[in-house]
Amino acid sequence: MNRLLMTMALAGAASISAMANFTDPNNPSGTVVDRFADIEVLRYTVPGFEKLSLDQKKFVYYLTEAALSGRDILWDQNGRYNLPLRRLLEGIYQNYNGDRKSADFVAFENYLKQVEFGNGPHHHYSTDKFRPEFSADWFEKQIKAFADSNPAEIEAIGNVLPDLRKLIFEPTFMAKRVNQTEGEDLIATSANNFYEGVTQKEVEDYFNAIKNPDDATPVSYGLNTKVTKINGKVVELPYKLGGLYSPAIERIVDNLTKARQYAETPQQAASIDALIRYYATGDLRAFDEYSILWTEDTTPTVDFVNGFIESYGDPLGMTGSWESIVNFRNNDASRRTEIISNAAQWFENNSPVDPRFRKPEVKGVSAKVINAAILAGDAYPSTPIGINLPNANWIRAAHGSKSVTIENITQAYDDASHGNGFNEEFVIDEPTRELLDKYLFITDNLHTDLHECLGHGSGRLLPGVDPDALKAHGSTLEETRADLFALYYLADPKLLELGLLDNPDAYKAEYYKYMLNGLMTQLMRIEPGKDVEEAHMRNRKLIAEWVLEHGKDDNVVELVKRDGKTFVQINDYTRMRQLFGELLAEIQRIKSEGDYEAGAALVEEYAVKVDPKIHKEVLDRYAKLNIAPYKGFVNPVYTPVTDANGEITDVRVTYVEDYLPQMFRYSRDYSPLTR
Ligand code: ZN
Repeated sequence: MNRLLMTMALAGAASISAMANFTDPNNPSGTVVDRFADIEVLRYTVPGFEKLSLDQKKFVYYLTEAALSGRDILWDQNGRYNLPLRRLLEGIYQNYNGDRKSADFVAFENYLKQVEFGNGPHHHYSTDKFRPEFSADWFEKQIKAFADSNPAEIEAIGNVLPDLRKLIFEPTFMAKRVNQTEGEDLIATSANNFYEGVTQKEVEDYFNAIKNPDDATPVSYGLNTKVTKINGKVVELPYKLGGLYSPAIERIVDNLTKARQYAETPQQAASIDALIRYYATGDLRAFDEYSILWTEDTTPTVDFVNGFIESYGDPLGMTGSWESIVNFRNNDASRRTEIISNAAQWFENNSPVDPRFRKPEVKGVSAKVINAAILAGDAYPSTPIGINLPNANWIRAAHGSKSVTIENITQAYDDASHGNGFNEEFVIDEPTRELLDKYLFITDNLHTDLHECLGHGSGRLLPGVDPDALKAHGSTLEETRADLFALYYLADPKLLELGLLDNPDAYKAEYYKYMLNGLMTQLMRIEPGKDVEEAHMRNRKLIAEWVLEHGKDDNVVELVKRDGKTFVQINDYTRMRQLFGELLAEIQRIKSEGDYEAGAALVEEYAVKVDPKIHKEVLDRYAKLNIAPYKGFVNPVYTPVTDANGEITDVRVTYVEDYLPQMFRYSRDYSPLTR
């Protein structure tokens, strides 16, 4: 539920001019490593890693090994043919002896890069299947050549070869990884591998039968299982040692065990023990124990996420995609979030929602700014800039949550963004551009802090309300709620009083960018004729369109024409803030009461349908800028330095590995499910 992705003004960053100087050895942060299709791959750096103690470095090292060991799990969760597909594509690419400048090979390379980025043949964001631009004939020749020189490889994937051909070349076969279209069987029409041979109704009936509505501390049903049928009966197959994905889980557990000896506190060691127990047994109670220990342990510098966490990949929002992020605290920047979380109760008490829906006592909102040391699984190569966990509502209510802003990632985006022409094209006038130049980085970071550390944690459900009551719209409405909370408070004088901003107009930078993004520029991520589907994009559109419409009478914000181009013009920032507050009150009511009908109506009316005229205009204007709509990252490489006895005496970090070489190395060294 709770990950925050980069919004457009910064994510639409990194210019073509930045490509001229690929990796700058003096400051690799934000440099462009690769560019293909709608993707740009950047480097991030890990400031402060050298200053960690030797034990902390070893801790990070083993945790990064545990992180990389789970890569295959995510690939297989994304689609049942994804691992053999990767094996075939990488094999052909590495075996190829022909002209690497030929049109077919260039198209093939492009396709391979997309598949690596999507952790499978579907786009990481739209979840639509990639379209190859090489010919089927050419591909058959390459399979033959590959089979001649590597018969064992083709042997190993031989029985799914016909499926792989269909997967690559037949547009309607497994066309979408996550289908959210209302009224269709979301399971039958989604290509992910969380379910097999079952209908949506069978899955819903199955879980309804085992859920106890009176359970105040329910486990996260279906989080770590694949649902299928055996002998006509619906069953769950758990991901665990001895179960699904066992070889990968063994390596994860092995590295977690090595990491454990460097845990910084007894509680952190205990949380790792609980995580290992969960991987060993598949018991969701053990996962809850782990989550509680992890949430309450806020003192360590080094921290990590490793497991089946976010459920965006499941159209029913239950099964967690495997991911890992290893990180450590950025002490300077953490002062900012400490100030915010110390004032958490003030924010809750003053929020513009019905007092019945407020938390009487905000528990343990711990927020910090971190630097990521490794991104893995569902957090790689595309990665969130903020995370708030755990996801279980009852644990959040009873034990609080941990919220992070990943500063070295936002820094890389910002480093990449300067001078790409985006603001000149889309921002209405020079004073507004100046405002953005001056205040967007800090207000965007504050927006992330507020969204993650207070927004998701705020409010409460009325007694007896099912946390899954908003069903397929739950993710969108939850993100809407967190964004509105952040937007509302960004303009609050409290932020000046707390010393977080130094100018009462600073918030206008974020307001302008948010409306511009929600009404216009995020549409460049959508293909012509398609609807908005991804939860965060829906949430941004919902908020911006709702405010546009409800602000009409007061002329709060409008779309104006200048020289034939459309611009967002904000006339009344003060009233805009009130509108954010009004919408927040309604979304909180919907969540607290579990009012599915009202939630669905808001989403359907404001968040889904795209105006084709404005869409086309945005695409045309954006195309001229030649900015990649999506960004992702290559990881640094960690190398242990050992003495004559094999003891680790240091861990070095380097920033030189390129995109495909990194993918190939991972496939070679971290592929327990295929080798
Ligand atoms: Zn969020």
